[in-house]
Amino acid sequence: MKVDAIIVGAGPAGSTCAIELAKNGAHVILLEKSAIGRYKPCAGGLLGDNEKEFGKLPNSVRQQSINQVLIGTKDKIGKMKPIHDGETFGTLVYRTEYDRFLAESAQSAGAELYTETEALSANRFNDRIEVETITKTGEKKTYLSDFLIIATGLSSSKIQRSLGVEYPRETVNCVQAEFTIADSIIEERFGGGDIEIYWDAKGIASHGYAWIFTKPGGLTVGVLDYFVKVERLKKIIESHPTISPRLQGAKPLLIEDRHYWAAPIPDRIIEYTYYPRTLVIGDAAGFVNRMNYEGIYYARKSGKIAAKVILKAISRKNLSAAYLGRYEKIWNREIYLPFLLDSRFTHHFYYHSSYLDEFSKAVVDVLNDETIMKKLYQEAKKIKEIKYLYHSEIFQLEMVKKLQETYDKDTFNDMYKHFTHENPV
Ligand SMILES: Cc1cc2nc3c(=O)[nH]c(=O)nc-3n(C[C@H](O)[C@H](O)[C@H](O)COP(=O)(O)OP(=O)(O)OC[C@H]3O[C@@H](n4cnc5c(N)ncnc54)[C@H](O)[C@@H]3O)c2cc1C
Repeated sequence: MKVDAIIVGAGPAGSTCAIELAKNGAHVILLEKSAIGRYKPCAGGLLGDNEKEFGKLPNSVRQQSINQVLIGTKDKIGKMKPIHDGETFGTLVYRTEYDRFLAESAQSAGAELYTETEALSANRFNDRIEVETITKTGEKKTYLSDFLIIATGLSSSKIQRSLGVEYPRETVNCVQAEFTIADSIIEERFGGGDIEIYWDAKGIASHGYAWIFTKPGGLTVGVLDYFVKVERLKKIIESHPTISPRLQGAKPLLIEDRHYWAAPIPDRIIEYTYYPRTLVIGDAAGFVNRMNYEGIYYARKSGKIAAKVILKAISRKNLSAAYLGRYEKIWNREIYLPFLLDSRFTHHFYYHSSYLDEFSKAVVDVLNDETIMKKLYQEAKKIKEIKYLYHSEIFQLEMVKKLQETYDKDTFNDMYKHFTHENPV
């Protein structure tokens, strides 16, 4: 039997797309090569408007609100609170529970979920798409549909190769571990509900950062750079001057067969995200913020947009590739322009200017300047749409002033060139 859509991959992108399609009456098959409950290396930070956009999470999934952000350099730290009372920076989750919740929500909405079922290849015909699958026990089966949605993240490119669909080739790499530590120590050292970002070009990464995200009973700790190995994270934990003392006594958890997990994140959006009868969503399309490399929001948002376009195509009986081109127009308007374009600029001046340490020191200097911070919070409170101080123009301006006070004219002028987005890559 031919269904409306087959979605390959039950991560945040695929499950969200399945929820939206199924709850609006489409017949959907969701294929996932792993068992539900697989470990996906991810810090689980749902920043900003995730819950507002996609609905409140149940308490069993939502570990903690993010009440504070800490920015660290090699010798200093600075802390930031949300501007308005009652606001948070977002939510922390463990991906195992989060992904399980989303896949089960897709099932409850009516999607057929087949786990431990890998999509091996697909063939496109004039009137259908055929997807060849194999289960963990070796059973082969072919599923038929009008549309195929590729939501495979970066863990496989088989399906793309069979259809001539692009796959993100430019990536950054992460190493991450989950640590156990007593809640009392988390409360004492981190204050609870805290995410910490550390920049240090030589001691951590010239093209990325290290993080500690605190959750009840545990810490998710990792490092991101162009090329990074497990030894780098171990060294940071053992001896980095600002990070190491905060992790004293924390033990890495053994998950499946290892303590440390490496995984890539895409570093570019692919050139074509729609093809005849086919859309590409989430990491498989390269939708990430290139400053902090968060991707869950964009994975889910692209899943939602893809579902909307497919539902319209079905209702208008227009299954043409040209009609699917609306997907690109909408993600450009709702994902790229409001979020990802700006991250391309900040990416440039933090990671490609050679001034990463100077910029991050200026951020921490502003955060530690009580007079400025008091004034900033007062000013920011008046402007309703500024939610996060760090992203506000007034914060950025104070940062530029700190740079101007600290460095000679030529150096400052050179920095300013990067800061004002000349020559972004
Ligand atoms: C170490 C690390 C930390 C991160 N931290 C954060 C963070 O704190 N916040 C944030 O927003 N983002 C974070 N990210 C990015 C985030 O994890 C991704 O952007 C997000 O998972 C993308 O979702 P997705 O659904 O597109 O892909 P995925 O989550 O990768 O899901 C893809 C799914 O497809 C399945 N699959 C693949 N191929 C097949 C196939 N052929 N057949 C069937 N199934 C298949 C996979 O098993 C997988 O379940 C982090 C990434 C890493 C690596």
